[in-house]
Amino acid sequence: MSSQNNIYAQVILPLKLKMGISYLVPLQLEKRAVKGAKVRVIFARREYIAVISELTDNCGDYKGRISEILSVEDVPPISEKELRFWQWCADYYMCTVGEVYRAAFTSAMRRDSAPKRVRKQKPSEVDSRELYQLSPAQEQAREEIMKSFAQGKPALLAGVTGSGKTEIYLKIAKEITDKGGRVLYMVPEIALSRQLNDRLEAVFGERLLSYHSGMTPAARYSAYSKIDSTPDGEGFIVLGLRSSLFLPFRNLELIIIDEEHDSSYKQTEPAPRYNGRDSAIVLGQIHSAPVLLGSATPSFESLYNCSSGRYSLVRLDEKFHGATEPEVTVIDTIRESKAKRMNGLFSQTLLEEIESVTGRGEQVLIFRNRRSYSPLVQCSVCGHIPMCSHCNVPLSYHKNRGELCCHYCDYHIPRSSVCPECSEPGMTEKGSGTEMIEEKIREILPNARVARFDAETTQSKAEEKRILREFAAGKIDILVGTQMISKGFDFKGLSLVALIQADSMLAMDDFRANERAFQLLRQLSGRTGRGAARGKIIIQTSLAAHNVYEAFSSGEERLYEQLAERQEFGYPPFVRLIKLTIRSADRNRLSDAAARTSMGLGKIKSAEITGPFAPVVDKVRGEYILQFWIKLPRAGNAAAKERIAELAEKIEIEIRSVTIVADVDPQ
Ligand code: ADP
Ligand code: ZN
Repeated sequence: MSSQNNIYAQVILPLKLKMGISYLVPLQLEKRAVKGAKVRVIFARREYIAVISELTDNCGDYKGRISEILSVEDVPPISEKELRFWQWCADYYMCTVGEVYRAAFTSAMRRDSAPKRVRKQKPSEVDSRELYQLSPAQEQAREEIMKSFAQGKPALLAGVTGSGKTEIYLKIAKEITDKGGRVLYMVPEIALSRQLNDRLEAVFGERLLSYHSGMTPAARYSAYSKIDSTPDGEGFIVLGLRSSLFLPFRNLELIIIDEEHDSSYKQTEPAPRYNGRDSAIVLGQIHSAPVLLGSATPSFESLYNCSSGRYSLVRLDEKFHGATEPEVTVIDTIRESKAKRMNGLFSQTLLEEIESVTGRGEQVLIFRNRRSYSPLVQCSVCGHIPMCSHCNVPLSYHKNRGELCCHYCDYHIPRSSVCPECSEPGMTEKGSGTEMIEEKIREILPNARVARFDAETTQSKAEEKRILREFAAGKIDILVGTQMISKGFDFKGLSLVALIQADSMLAMDDFRANERAFQLLRQLSGRTGRGAARGKIIIQTSLAAHNVYEAFSSGEERLYEQLAERQEFGYPPFVRLIKLTIRSADRNRLSDAAARTSMGLGKIKSAEITGPFAPVVDKVRGEYILQFWIKLPRAGNAAAKERIAELAEKIEIEIRSVTIVADVDPQ
C-alpha cells in the first residue's frame, strides 16, 4: 500500500518498548511533522503523545496496516541534544528510550490548555538586588573554578558547611543569566530546594524557575513550557531535582550539582534508574556547558574523578563566619552501662550536657536513624516477633497511632499487649525509634520544649515548616529527628548534636556504609556552631572503637584509606557495579529464574558475578527476592551490558511472573 511519496515517522512512545513504531505522516501534516515533534498517535487502542525520532520514506519490513499520525502538537520539537541525552540514559542505565521519555515527559505533558507564551521581559526588569561581596577565600575558589571551566573540566568545590559555597554558585550563575544564558541548579531533595528558594529568589527574582515533583502538574507544566518557549537571549535559572535534567534546555551554560554526594540523586524506581549527578555530567558534555559539583563531604566517586584528573578539586576550608569545628565525644554505651552511668537510652554525660546547653538557652538536636516508637516488638514469654504478612520484616510499633506498621508496604494492625501466638500478655518494645526518644526525653526533662522531625511528623508541608520555623526562632529546645534533619538547615542557636545508637548506621550490609556514616557525621556537625559558641557532638555507640569515629575525630584522611581498600577488593568507583534483582511471588519460578540467570551471566567473560543471594529484606509486597552483583570494567562494557539486558528479557518472557531489574551504579 505504500506509494513512492509517502513519509513515515518512527516514534518514541512513553512505554517499555524495544522496537521503534512507525506511522504514516498524512500529507497535510508533513511540514510540521519534523524530527523531535510531539505527535498524537494510537497504539494498542490507546492514544499517546509520542516523539518522532526518525523520518523515512519506507516503513521497513512492516507488512501490516500502518496507522496515521493524528495530529502534531503545537509546541517546540524535542531538540537533537535532548534526544541524544535520552539515548545515553537508556544505553547507560539499561532501559528503553521510551522509559526515559516517560520519565521526562508524562508529568509535563499532562495539561488542559495550550502553553502560554511568556511575556518578553524588559532589561529594566533585571533584578537590582545585590549579591554579597565574596571574601578573598571565596574569590580565590571562584577563580580556580573558572580556570577549570576554561580547561573544559568539571570542578568539585569541596568546602565545609558554612564556608559560603552557595554564594559562589550564585555569583557564577548570576553572571551567566545576566548575559542571557541558562543555568540549572540541582539539589537532591525537595526540602533543600525549599530552603534555597528564598535566597535564589532574592538574587534572580522572576528569572528563577522551580521544578520538582512536589509541585502540582499544572505548575510543572507551566515551568516546562516557560523553559521551552523563552526567547533566546533571555537568561534564567532553574532550581530543581534530578528530573529537571529532562527539561527542554537551549543555551544551557552551567550546571550546578549541590550536595553532590547525596544518595537521593539516584532514582531507584521506576526506570530509568539514573543518578542525577552522573547524568548531569553527560548533559553538560552534550551542551558543552561547564559543570560545578559541590559538597562538604564529597563522594568517593567524585574524589576519584579528581585524582584521575577528570575533575579539578577546589577547596574552601574556612567557614565564612569563622566558627570552629565542633568538639567530638564518643560515648561507649557498653562501658557506661557496666558503670551504671546509663539512664535508659541516655548516658549521664549526655543528659548533663543537654541540661547545661538548654540551661544556657541554646538548642539540642538528637539524631536517630529509625522512626517509630520501637523498630519491633517481641513476646517476653514465647519470643514471638510480629512480622508483616507481605514482607519479611518485623512490624514497627507506632505508639501515637496504637499500631504495628510495616515500613516497606502499607500493612498495619492494631497493637495489642497480648501475644497472638501464646495468648500471654507479654508483648514488649525492643529497641528505640525517634518517637520513644521524644517521649523519654520529655519524661527526664519535663521543662524542656521538645519536638520531633521525621517522615511521620512532617507529612504535611505546613507542619514541616512550622517545626523548622519554631526551632529557628528558639521556641523549641530539643529537636529529635531522622536523616531529614541532617541536611542544609542553618540554626544559629544550635550548639549540641547527639547521636543515639549510632552503630545502627554502621551495621548496614553495604560497602558504602563507612562513607555514608562519615558523611552523615560531617553533615550533622555542620549544623552546629553557627552561633558564637563552639559546637559539640556526642556520639553514643556500642562500637566506640570503630574506625569511622576515629576518622571523624581526627580528620578525613583516615577515611580515604578506604578508597584504597575499595580498589583492592574491586568495588566502585574502581569497577562498574550492576545490581540485578529478580522478584517473583512464586518461589519455584524465582529459583528457576535465578539458576538460568546464573548460567547466562557465567558466559560473559568480562563480568565478575556474586550471587544469587537473598538481600537483608528478601520478601517485599508479597514477592520473594534474589540478587546478583555484577562487576564490569569501568569502561568498554557496553557489549556486556547488552548481553545482560538480553538475558534478563529472555528469562522474563520464558518464565512468566518473574521480574528482573538491572540497576546500574546502585546506591
Ligand atoms: P555553604 O553553602 O558552604 O554551607 P553558605 O553559602 O550557606 O555556605 O554560607 C554560610 C553563611 O554565610 C550564610 O548565612 C551566607 O549568607 C553567609 N555568607 C557566605 N558568604 C558570604 C559573603 N561573601 N558575604 C556575606 N555573607 C556570606
Ligand atoms: Zn510489608
